Amino acid sequence: MFDKILIANRGEIALRGLRAGKELGIPTVAVHSTADADAMHVRLADESVCIGPPPARDSYLNIPALLAACEITGADAVHPGYGFLSENARFAEILGEHGVQFIGPKPEHIRLMGDKIEAKRTARRLGIPTVPGSDGAIASEGQAQTLAREVGYPVLVKASAGGGGRTARAEAKAAFGDDAVYLEKYLQQPRHIEIQVLGDGQGRAIHLGERDCSLQRRHQKVLEESPSPALNTAERDAIGEIVAKAARELKYLGVGTVEFLYEDGRFYFIEMNTRIQVEHPVTEMITDIDLILEQIRIAYGAELTIAQKDVKFHGHAIECRINAENPVSFRPSPGKIVHYHPPGGMGVRIDSAVYQGYSIPPHYDSLLGKLIVHGKSRAECLMRLKRALDEFVVDGIETTLPLFRALVRDKDILDGSYHIHWLEEFLASGRMAE
Ligand code: ADP
Repeated sequence: MFDKILIANRGEIALRGLRAGKELGIPTVAVHSTADADAMHVRLADESVCIGPPPARDSYLNIPALLAACEITGADAVHPGYGFLSENARFAEILGEHGVQFIGPKPEHIRLMGDKIEAKRTARRLGIPTVPGSDGAIASEGQAQTLAREVGYPVLVKASAGGGGRTARAEAKAAFGDDAVYLEKYLQQPRHIEIQVLGDGQGRAIHLGERDCSLQRRHQKVLEESPSPALNTAERDAIGEIVAKAARELKYLGVGTVEFLYEDGRFYFIEMNTRIQVEHPVTEMITDIDLILEQIRIAYGAELTIAQKDVKFHGHAIECRINAENPVSFRPSPGKIVHYHPPGGMGVRIDSAVYQGYSIPPHYDSLLGKLIVHGKSRAECLMRLKRALDEFVVDGIETTLPLFRALVRDKDILDGSYHIHWLEEFLASGRMAE
């Protein structure tokens, strides 16, 4: 096994990586910016290295500083978490050139999926259903208009370099330094349903079911659940097998998520994320498979030992992403947590790096923690989630807890009847006003 793992991240996902390292008996290294000197991930690691000033580009994104930290501590593997350098193929390569293993997919797969035109083309080649649209980059306005009439308006023009659902060539160039754009039919009221895959890079791969992440605000996921209230076993098995087969053909290594829009019983590929996702715990809760542990084992070169038939889905799990934000305006609310009492009891899991007396710095995203609840059925899970949310105390800053307390009492949520625009419509309706 690895001698020592460096976690190139902060917050709850850094803790998640440290916990997996500890369970495997591997010493861990935390890295931190000067703003994070008091952070929990620094306290829980065996060693820590300060890698720069507060702005992420000077610390958590600073590749030379991270390499130096590996060198000083003797770390021979890096877990990137999500965000930051987790989907940076060059970072994975540079680590390799220095004899350090990147705990993630092969660089060529990171690169392939980072180019959304190539990703979509690959998906189609591998038999994954995609959104009707252009077969690659669009060359002219005329071509776009012809295509749009073919697939039917409305359509979306998306940047190949991706990120944030943005549109149009000039904007793509300014935002991503790449002006390639492609055209896609705009689906009116789809759900966002994604499939978790796990592969060993040698041609073995399985799927771990789906996560329904339709509750979004500005394309940011807010609440995720598994199984999806919209799928039955046959549908799950069918789309899961398509994705697992594609991962086997690619010889995909590590964890990955294939994201789909789902409308009228059909799946449409939108992208593949080549990293662990924020919402991975809902899958862990219903499969009893530790995804981070599997990531580490497989990055070390171990074979996948779980067969598809061994994957058993049991019960239901829901995750709430609780942010340090005003629950109505969503304005970030950094500052000191004066009182903190997380919920507990059966079926309740908190993945968070905050503690009483901790000051949330203003430099990073506002995720305060994830509340993940498991139950035998969706109804039990929702009952448990309701009481867990009512127990949760965070004083001194504003949080989005009131939003979730409202959501678990809403009829559409209780019925599982929602789509990707539902949450924004709910917020616009004023039902959340204080
Ligand atoms: P990005 O990489 O910018 O996040 P995605 O392709 O993942 O872009 O899309 C982000 C979100 O935009 C999706 O979760 C969905 O809400 C919306 N979206 C993307 N493609 C379509 C489409 N063809 N029709 C309707 N909504 C879409």
